[in-house]
Amino acid sequence: MPHPISTLPLFRDQCYINGQWINSTQTIAVHNPTTGEQIGTIPMLSGGDIKTAITHAHTAQKSWAKTTAKHRATVLKKWHDLILQNQNELATIITAEMGKPTAESLTEIINGASYIEWYAEESKRLYGNIIPPHAQGQRSLVIRQPIGVVGAITPWNFPNGMITRKVAPALSAGCTVVLKPAPATPYSALALAELAHQAGIPAGVLNVVTGDAQTIGAELCTNPQVRKITFTGSTAVGKILLKQSADTVKKVSLELGGNAPSIVFEDADLNTAVDNIMASKFRNNGQTCVCTNRIYVHDSIAENFTNKLKHAVEKLQVGDPTNPTTTQGCLINKTAMERVHNLVQSAIAQGANCITGGNPHPLGGSFYQPTILTNVTHTMDIANTEIFAPVACIYTYTTDEQVIAYANNTPYGLSAYVYTQNMPRMWHMAEALEYGIVGINTGNTSSETIPFGGIKESGMGREGSKYGIEDFTEIKYICMGGLELEK
Ligand code: ADP
Repeated sequence: MPHPISTLPLFRDQCYINGQWINSTQTIAVHNPTTGEQIGTIPMLSGGDIKTAITHAHTAQKSWAKTTAKHRATVLKKWHDLILQNQNELATIITAEMGKPTAESLTEIINGASYIEWYAEESKRLYGNIIPPHAQGQRSLVIRQPIGVVGAITPWNFPNGMITRKVAPALSAGCTVVLKPAPATPYSALALAELAHQAGIPAGVLNVVTGDAQTIGAELCTNPQVRKITFTGSTAVGKILLKQSADTVKKVSLELGGNAPSIVFEDADLNTAVDNIMASKFRNNGQTCVCTNRIYVHDSIAENFTNKLKHAVEKLQVGDPTNPTTTQGCLINKTAMERVHNLVQSAIAQGANCITGGNPHPLGGSFYQPTILTNVTHTMDIANTEIFAPVACIYTYTTDEQVIAYANNTPYGLSAYVYTQNMPRMWHMAEALEYGIVGINTGNTSSETIPFGGIKESGMGREGSKYGIEDFTEIKYICMGGLELEK
């Protein structure tokens, strides 16, 4: 029996290189994490195939960069429109590949498309500058040019959205892309390639390759024709890519792990705090890099907050992600489930209290119970690890300065959240927290219009907003001399 998504019109199980669909003799199997069924296979390309894809992207970049920003905008908008027209089918593919509830998959498609809409127009505004002359008879100009071929490597937690936020600014700026999606979620990427093809994105401008991650990563990072690497994934892999890119001195953008604190002050509106922490902890079943990882609650309100959070967590519906009432699907695989269960067990062994959940879900497979741990301390592994699962950890604190020190005491610096109604405290926290993103009284900070990204070991570069396109460009300074009129 073929898997139901393999009969969808946008289902592609070949790689997309230079406008052609490519097979390989060796393949890799892809499974539906909810049911364990095999969805299909994808090609296991060789290092030589990746080199070929890069060469095509390099050739295509020369002509793509010569098109006008308006032309690129027209093609990108067509791609955006096709994605929205096919949103249900694309959402079905996401849910089958990675197990998030269909409603969340649809939201991802709409949010993902919004990056294409935003960046379609953005290269029209890649302005240069004219600098006052530093010598007589000279003029100094600055222009921005596309950086060239981009190697993009994306994770499985947002199989669509993590691609569009990289590919859209790259293409808009006049770059071409060789994209390696996560092996768990290749079909979302290949469906996007099919729609790019239908939208008229020329051959070689967007290429999607699959195969061994290390082989592809090494070729993208070391090939001199690739001028930029953009990556979202674990900090460990990000560091490897950064090192591999050093010899060819590539520009590198990294969106890596997080260890997001959510700080609830004694003056917070507790309902706002609980609603937003629920969203930021349990969205995507806890599998996002901006998910709340540590909840710090002022000790005077800890009991009240914990009761409200428990009430909300116990309302979550774990189950089949295609069922409209389901809020939590399974984790991406059994290893992820076992990993989080070990973290929970080890925290409990070291003194944490489990007040709800705490075990694999009776549905089996990689389903895990939504869990709350209290009495969590900083010496436990769970405090220093990106949990990436539906497990909320509550810590208590007494003073503002203490909680700032706790929150910042991590090598990560992606997202932090603060709940307070005190304006001076909002500003103090916003400035004191060492994070790229600070949400105040909200756990929902993402949008195509804002610069998403982290500091410290959470990465470098920003995605979204006017800043997100700059990483795909180089600044060129042009000095024009001999401009004096003849005497
Ligand atoms: P996760 O733990 O979320 O899967 P990873 O960092 O392992 O995060 O994976 C993110 C992306 O990086 C995926 O596309 C994966 O295949 C890819 N990847 C993993 N290891 C490497 C590597 N050594 N070189 C290049 N890409 C890699």
